[in-house]
Parts: sequence; structure tokens; C-alpha cells
Amino acid sequence: MNPEIINHKSEILNQLPLMEDFYTIQGEGFYQGHAAYFIRLGGCDVGCVWCDVKESWNADAHPQVSVDEMVQRAKSSGTKLVVITGGEPAMYDLSVLTKSLQLAGLQTNIETSGVYPLTGTWDWICFSPKKFKAPDPSVFDQANELKVIVYNKSDFSWAEEFAEKVNSGCKLFLQPEWSKEKEMLPLIIEYVKANPKWEVSLQIHKYMNIP
Ligand code: SF4
Repeated sequence: MNPEIINHKSEILNQLPLMEDFYTIQGEGFYQGHAAYFIRLGGCDVGCVWCDVKESWNADAHPQVSVDEMVQRAKSSGTKLVVITGGEPAMYDLSVLTKSLQLAGLQTNIETSGVYPLTGTWDWICFSPKKFKAPDPSVFDQANELKVIVYNKSDFSWAEEFAEKVNSGCKLFLQPEWSKEKEMLPLIIEYVKANPKWEVSLQIHKYMNIP
């Protein structure tokens, strides 16, 4: 579906396609180890070949759920931190959702590939660019965290291209793609030792066997 149509529809209805929501531990990046309520929106047109949530791609396969209901569920979990992820959540206008979460006293974090300009008010923006669709340049200045998934050796120089583009305060993470972890993690360790502006990010939720 055309993202503009989805935006328009969601704005009017205050509803978004919800694939799943759950309270867990953030396993990746700057907030790794923190309790967090995840809201995973359906819909993505980026097309990563190694995507581990391909069932998120078709927005129409997921029920439209009201913002009020999502906020209520997050709030009642006891969390202080909400991570909006997908899919590609930035394909929707997230102004109402983020404002409602913040009014409920919850921190708003997003995980985005950056292919759409961001809407909404964010306490933390994790920008994770993908080779399969170029990001929108407006995201470079806004990112609090750059998280590059390393699938093969050429991804190190690709990561450096984005490290040059993001703002100077942006945290930099290299994370092995899960299926390539055994092969890529030793390279990442050596790369971070040689280039300490970067940090290692691991998907620790997978080690803990939690969502
Ligand atoms: S951007 Fe995320 S959800 Fe979309 S295809 Fe890539 S890994 Fe999957």
C-alpha cells in the first residue's frame, strides 16, 4: 500500500497496524539490557534479504489497533520505556502515538531504517540503515544512535560512510547479523579495537531466549 495513503488513514483513525506488542528486555544497541515495551507495527517496503521479521512486511495482515489501546497496554505493563519498531514504523505518521505515550509518562524510542522522514516526538532515535533502500538524509542529524548490521566484510566501509553523515554526538554500534554471527563477530571485535569510536552490539535477547 502507498505509504501516503497509510499515513492519511492512520491520522484520521488514530489507528495503526499492530503486529505484536510485548514487555521484554531491549537486547540491542544503547538501551541494551533495559526493560522495554515493544510495539511492533506491521508494514515494511525495505526488503532486507536477511530480515528476521518478514511476516511484518504486509501491513494489511495485521489488525488496526487504536493508539489509546496501545498506550494503555504499554502503561499497564509497568514499563518506563517504549520502543516503536517494525516493520518500518516511520512509514506512518506517529505524532499521535508518541505524544500520547509521552503524556502517559513513557519514554519514546524508535528503531528505523530511516527511509522515511520521521514524524512524532522521540526521546531516542536508533537509525539502522539498510543497503536495500537508501535512507532519507533528514534522519542523519536526528539520530541518537547509528546501528549498522554487519552481514559481510564490505559492511565496515559502508558503516563508515554513515558515521561521517550522522551528527557528532551520535553513538556508533556494529552488530553482527544473527545468521552470520560466528563469522562476523570476531571481525567486529577486531574492528572496534582498531576503531574505538564504534561499540559492539549483540542481540542479547536471543541469547536469553526472550522476544
Ligand atoms: S527494514 Fe527491518 S523489517 Fe524491514 S526488511 Fe529490513 S530488517 Fe526487515
